[in-house]
Amino acid sequence: MASSLTELIASQDDLVAEAALALPHSFSHCTYSLGSLRQAVYLCLTCASPRGICSACSIACHTDHEQLELFPKRNFRCDCPTTALSHACTLHKTPEDVNERNSYGQNFRGLFCRCGRPYDPRTERETMIQCLACEDWFHESCLNLRERPSSRESSPAAEASTIQASDEVNGANEDDDAASEASSSGLPPPLIQGSEYESFVCGSCVSGIHTLKRYAGTPGVMMVVRDDLSSDWKVIGGTSAPDGDNPVEVLDEAVATNAGTKRPRSPSATADANSPESKRARASPGPASSSAAPCLAPSLNMIACKIFTSRDDVTLGAGDIFLTEEWRNRWCHCGSCRPSLESRPFLLQEEETYEPPEDPDSSLSLEELGMRALQRLPRDRAIDGIHAFNNMRDELVQYLRPFAQEGKVVGETDVRAFFEAKLEAARLARRDR
Ligand SMILES: [Zn+2]
Ligand SMILES: [Zn+2]
Ligand SMILES: [Zn+2]
Ligand SMILES: [Zn+2]
Ligand SMILES: [Zn+2]
Ligand SMILES: [Zn+2]
Repeated sequence: MASSLTELIASQDDLVAEAALALPHSFSHCTYSLGSLRQAVYLCLTCASPRGICSACSIACHTDHEQLELFPKRNFRCDCPTTALSHACTLHKTPEDVNERNSYGQNFRGLFCRCGRPYDPRTERETMIQCLACEDWFHESCLNLRERPSSRESSPAAEASTIQASDEVNGANEDDDAASEASSSGLPPPLIQGSEYESFVCGSCVSGIHTLKRYAGTPGVMMVVRDDLSSDWKVIGGTSAPDGDNPVEVLDEAVATNAGTKRPRSPSATADANSPESKRARASPGPASSSAAPCLAPSLNMIACKIFTSRDDVTLGAGDIFLTEEWRNRWCHCGSCRPSLESRPFLLQEEETYEPPEDPDSSLSLEELGMRALQRLPRDRAIDGIHAFNNMRDELVQYLRPFAQEGKVVGETDVRAFFEAKLEAARLARRDR
């Protein structure tokens, strides 16, 4: 896996540069007093499960504990200062009552995806994708995006060949996206690549959200489906021509035409037989309400309908959707489509994820900076980066521990010294290879 510290340092200079630029800062603020937020959450396996801690606490209070990063969780309040953890918080020193409003899904027990497996960054070969709605993480193979890799164990030999493959791709291809898709795990590219969509919602979430179900499989709302048990998985909703050789471009065109409007129907959206009829029927004012706006959603996709009417039968597909760029601007806002969107604000507006403020007196952690840099990377690359970043964090945390414990502000020179040592190590490692 291309995820050693060496790889990180060699390939992600901007992460290092950004971290060095924004310093100095301290690790002195737990987010507890801010209440429930969408924020990066860590599970401390040493302390308590199912509980979660904020990133400052993960660095300052649980330094030498075994931790698992769960990434952003919405409406979450740090558990570190609460009596649910026997370990005392070093940042928020008043003991607080147990948080009643946090919800702890299976991730807080160290389990992920619909298959309920534990996650080990050192052995996991697949990219995992986070559901926008439930915020759980899913294996690409569990989303039918690829075959399950033959072994989840990555032997040293497999690892070496992966790194080699990644170098080859990087050398031959200047397109970072394409390179990272192919390289992260030495696996062939998934059926839908990370660059083709913006957000993902898992099938069980879709089945509970009327408007997502309504749009599933229509243009810009891709699904992975098949005709029967013996057929190959294919992508619908990503192309207006079933066998088009460049589906992404075709889709972008359709999307661009509709951008910012209440989705007037494009030719691609009406491609289904019989859709204009059903459309007109829906659009005609019903007897119920005079203020009813016509529904402008594209005609239902029949495969998606079948999938959601027999949820326990996963022959045709799991009901997962992959939403393409600008998807929030394409919803119909009629009386039938609006309510299920309004009750989940993240479907209408991109959510804020807490990041510590940037002034020197605040608690912007190096880790937050790292995460921000990672978020700008293509998905596959990001997951490599995250593995590597976790390794680096562990080392950095050891290094910064005395500062955190004494509540001292970390100076730019302190962190620069750390990175210089790392870069030197990386240079040596490269020479050895
Ligand atoms: Zn905290
Ligand atoms: Zn702990
Ligand atoms: Zn704490
Ligand atoms: Zn899975
Ligand atoms: Zn979900
Ligand atoms: Zn509608």
